Amino acid sequence: MAYQSLYRKYRSRDFTDLMGQRHVTQTLANAIGSGRVSHAYLFCGPRGTGKTSTARVLAKALNCINGPTATPCDECPYCIAIRQGNAIDVIEIDAASNRNIDDMRQLREQVNYPPVELRYKFYIVDEVHQLTRDAFNAFLKTLEEPPGHVIFVLCTTDPHQLPATILSRCQRFDFHRITQEDITQRLHWVVQQEGWTIEDEAVHLLARAANGGLRDALSLLDQAASYAGTDITAQHIRDILGGIDLDLLTQFTDTVLQKDAVGLFRLVDTIISDGKDVPQLVGELIQHWRNLLRAQIGGPDALVEFTPEQRTLMTGQARQTNQPALMRAITLLCEAENELRWNAQQRLLLELYSLRIMGEEPAPAPAAVAAPVPAARPAATVAPSQPAARRFDTPRAAEPAPRPAAPAPAATAPKPVDPAPKPAAAAPAPAAEPAAASPVGEWTLPRLKKSWPQFTDWMKRSPKLENLRTRIVEKCWPASLIGDRLTLQTASAFTRSQVVERPQIKQVLEQCLQSYFKASFVVSIEVQNGGDTAPAPAPEPVPAPIPEPAPVATAAPEPPPVAAPEPPAVPEPDRDLVGERMKQVFSGSEEVTK
Ligand SMILES: [Zn+2]
Repeated sequence: MAYQSLYRKYRSRDFTDLMGQRHVTQTLANAIGSGRVSHAYLFCGPRGTGKTSTARVLAKALNCINGPTATPCDECPYCIAIRQGNAIDVIEIDAASNRNIDDMRQLREQVNYPPVELRYKFYIVDEVHQLTRDAFNAFLKTLEEPPGHVIFVLCTTDPHQLPATILSRCQRFDFHRITQEDITQRLHWVVQQEGWTIEDEAVHLLARAANGGLRDALSLLDQAASYAGTDITAQHIRDILGGIDLDLLTQFTDTVLQKDAVGLFRLVDTIISDGKDVPQLVGELIQHWRNLLRAQIGGPDALVEFTPEQRTLMTGQARQTNQPALMRAITLLCEAENELRWNAQQRLLLELYSLRIMGEEPAPAPAAVAAPVPAARPAATVAPSQPAARRFDTPRAAEPAPRPAAPAPAATAPKPVDPAPKPAAAAPAPAAEPAAASPVGEWTLPRLKKSWPQFTDWMKRSPKLENLRTRIVEKCWPASLIGDRLTLQTASAFTRSQVVERPQIKQVLEQCLQSYFKASFVVSIEVQNGGDTAPAPAPEPVPAPIPEPAPVATAAPEPPPVAAPEPPAVPEPDRDLVGERMKQVFSGSEEVTK
């Protein structure tokens, strides 16, 4: 007999056999029991969580010779035919390859013919979200009023892509990821049925890698059996999974916890030369640190899915650190994971982010450096990196870097006391002005207005700020300044809503303002009503920058137009991805190796 994959061989046979979806199976069983069967179901959920298996069990339940019954016999010819995939009236359609309007027209004709041998004609449409729009429209009519002998089960991993017209015509069930405990249990059972042996740790590794999908878990087990024969060890599984094992995670974590920078570089060397996959490593590290966090909060009992030895090891590591540090580390790793998608410098990113987690970041520039040192070393090139680098450190990240009360006087007199206004073109960089001793102080509304175009130019230097610049900053302009409260005006209610509804955007905008203008503004935004329309007002006589009077009268030349500071590496709007990732991590439904 041809080889049958474990997943197909051990497909669930009835509702009680389906793992981890009791909320679905119970409802379906009750509906069958009370004769309230719908003509269209929508099964949503991650892949490998039992959607098509459930659809087949439903087909059996309704068509069993003893049925309709919630407990199909699995022995009658109908049950057997459905189980083996031979039933002529159970039609499985892959919408990914039959997605066009013609396919749907054909379907529409076919549904009218009564079933050949079963009680119901059963259409299981997999990945239904892949249908084209025309196909959906063609399908809609059928779905609305199918003949009484037809039942549709639509399956999708992505219900958001379905038109509302489809959603509203189906009874919807959401499938959950299957817990590691359930998967572990099932794997042990399958191994036992097959007469194999497997190490406990190997099962844990498989269950973890399967990420809530039983099909993936069984496919991996299949693969492991092909590779290792009938006695499967943890090492076999590691070989299959690409070799990021708990030992490596533990070693990496130890190095970081001990702030051993030298050791870190050495370890990264080994990781790279061993050909490990950096994004996968980072994904696994996120899981590992999340487990440490769980151990921090719930003690060893929180780590039920691990072996006792692993639990001891992980609680030991958890004890060396604390919750805020772990949370910060996870945040940074999520950020790194996100950046790894776009950035080919994988090794560098791994090192940089690890150093950041260790706290070995460039120390906040000492005051003397941040102070105006116009000629040799524009303060601006140093200062702006701080807010970004320190974002996740501690609450102090929000403060502007401390400035000296008075700038270093002698050799670097910033500017003679010379009120003559410079030509507008030669004054590109307000950032090069003596850093204001404190918030806002020297900024007036006219000066802000005048500098706004330069501010947007400055933002162009960072691709990461492109969205913020094009969607927000270029669509608004300073309208009032009272104290440190800067009100921006925009013509678009949408622009306003983006700032108002998404606090991170406002936060990043304020950070950019701070980096560029060296002053902390509290930003609000309003929709312009007919008044001010000029984002870039005509040049008005701008009060010359107000530097501290230079005590030395040598009239040092005006500092050359200083290159505007490098924009801070503020990761917005990528932050949304990071935020999403954090949500996943903490809801426990993480994609391990994405
Ligand atoms: Zn039967």
